[in-house]
Amino acid sequence: MRVLVVEDDRQISRQLVQALMTHGYVADTARNGEDGRFLGQTETYDAIILDLGLPVLDGLSVLQGWRQEGLKTPVLVLTARDTWSDKVKGLRAGADDYLAKPFHMEELIARVEALIRRDKGSVRSLLTSGEVQLDAATGRVTRRGEAVILTALEHRLLAYLMHRPGAIVSKAELTEHIYDQDFDKDSNVIEVLVNRLRKKFGAGFITTRRGLGYMIGDDAA
Ligand code: CA
Repeated sequence: MRVLVVEDDRQISRQLVQALMTHGYVADTARNGEDGRFLGQTETYDAIILDLGLPVLDGLSVLQGWRQEGLKTPVLVLTARDTWSDKVKGLRAGADDYLAKPFHMEELIARVEALIRRDKGSVRSLLTSGEVQLDAATGRVTRRGEAVILTALEHRLLAYLMHRPGAIVSKAELTEHIYDQDFDKDSNVIEVLVNRLRKKFGAGFITTRRGLGYMIGDDAA
């Protein structure tokens, strides 16, 4: 899963990126409203964390702009003060959730994870496909109850497919969601990752739909 962090406070931004990476996400950052708005318009994200107090263009204007353009990505707004008027303004502008500073990083990660799950149509944080389970809250992956160690890219690809059971996901879409903006995106890498996941979880775990993409079955349904 790929997340955009729009936050001008360097320390908070670094902490956010670190926590997101620890939980298996990949993150892009912007330090002012204009850059943030541009990234939200041009790149693909599974969720956006948006500070309201930003230089150049304030967070509320950024959010209003995205929503007017039809961007549907879930947005969690960070407010400087825990005041009801900031929350109401944020929600009216199209925020899906908000958190007041200072916040606990674990709460923020849990909220981002919940936003993404809801957006992808799943209500539970324990995702199951056959023998494989992914706890979206902790990032832990097991097969038949045994922990499986994955690389960061393997984990992101698995998480993206497991959030969308039964859906055929194209290589291009996977490429968009598992790399950050600075990565040299190479869709051939997707095939390599899928093959590595098949070695770890069984050949039939990921189905190839020739010319269309990849799919993980919907055993939980
Ligand atoms: Ca700020």
